[in-house]
Amino acid sequence: MTANLLLIGGGHAHVTALRWLQKHPCPDVSITLINPRAYAVYSGMVPGFVAGHFSRSEVEIDLGRLCTDSGADIIHDSIIDLDPIRKRAMGQSGKTYSYDLASVDVGIVSAPPSVSDSKMDLIVKPMSPFVEAWDQVSENLSGGVAIVGGGLGGVELAFAVRHRMRFNGLPDTVPVSLVDQSKILSASSPSLRRALRKKLTSGCVDILEDTEVRGHYDGRLELASGQSLTAQLVLWTAGGRAHDWLAQSGLKARNGFPVVAASLQSISHPDIFIVGDAASIPDKHVPKAGVYAVRQGPVLMQNMIAKSRGAPLQDFAPQKDYLKLVSLGKRAAIAEKWGLTVQLPGLWDLKTWIDRSFVQD
Ligand SMILES: Cc1cc2nc3c(=O)[nH]c(=O)nc-3n(C[C@H](O)[C@H](O)[C@H](O)COP(=O)(O)OP(=O)(O)OC[C@H]3O[C@@H](n4cnc5c(N)ncnc54)[C@H](O)[C@@H]3O)c2cc1C
Repeated sequence: MTANLLLIGGGHAHVTALRWLQKHPCPDVSITLINPRAYAVYSGMVPGFVAGHFSRSEVEIDLGRLCTDSGADIIHDSIIDLDPIRKRAMGQSGKTYSYDLASVDVGIVSAPPSVSDSKMDLIVKPMSPFVEAWDQVSENLSGGVAIVGGGLGGVELAFAVRHRMRFNGLPDTVPVSLVDQSKILSASSPSLRRALRKKLTSGCVDILEDTEVRGHYDGRLELASGQSLTAQLVLWTAGGRAHDWLAQSGLKARNGFPVVAASLQSISHPDIFIVGDAASIPDKHVPKAGVYAVRQGPVLMQNMIAKSRGAPLQDFAPQKDYLKLVSLGKRAAIAEKWGLTVQLPGLWDLKTWIDRSFVQD
């Protein structure tokens, strides 16, 4: 009998899962990918897109072609409800999708529930709506920009926005602010933190720490500290929470993120796998980074096929650290691994080569 495998979300892990399937065709499973759009955005190139180095098509992966090449079907829809007991997912279109096994790779929402996506408040993740919106607003940044969330992604975006402003002919007096409720780059190594802080300051990015955002109105970002920033546009890349429908699905979760075993299966509903940023893996250091999602894909696909056949599953073994190549707005990058930070002339080219190879694979 053919097992019906449903892949929800065209995230990085599902991309590499489908690429694995391309090389290892499996006739006894039927696979359907559900994603709102025909393309998935590759996050590593988004700061370069914001800075103006890459076009939208250069940072997007063609999911339709990927599905055709791997023998899977694709449906353009957005899941709004998941029922792990009846084994079905409900789409925004009103359609219901039944499955034997499902995998969820939908990433995170990078803004608090009080913020809704609008022309002047762009939620960076999910990224497809963000890159579409950036195309509309990037010519008009003269009212100032604030980035809320000072992780590596937020820092790269701050550099990218300043670069784009200069490219647009705007003076450095137009503010770019980076706001964090604690310290910026708190998850990064001390050497990377020091190097990037120095670059932010010399790159004319204002850093506002230990303060939450109270509101954004009339071109101003009001902070709990009492400061009021000039920011017509706000990019939200803060915190990162699970999609509401996933947090409310009944899967056993931690802070809304379903908890998975080393096999990437939900610990409460083993017919569902969760991968990428959407998953919580206890007792293992798995940062919410694309590198880990990419490595999960082949393990995920092999485990779904094994489960459909009643065969034993394998464990996902995350690497202990990974090479961070952090873009600096202009065509330059800083590299860090094992706490060692270097800045060399060829790093931007190396990063671009790695990123392009992934997108075009
Ligand atoms: C600016 C920035 C730069 C970054 N750079 C790097 C980097 O250089 N290296 C690195 O390792 N990490 C980087 N990251 C982190 C990286 O983006 C994430 O870790 C990675 O995208 C996680 O991939 P994922 O598989 O969880 O899914 P995602 O890439 O988040 O994709 C989720 C997919 O699910 C789809 N989806 C969402 N909701 C639904 C729904 N309801 N129904 C169906 N489909 C849905 C979306 O359209 C999307 O295609 C960066 C993050 C940011 C913000």
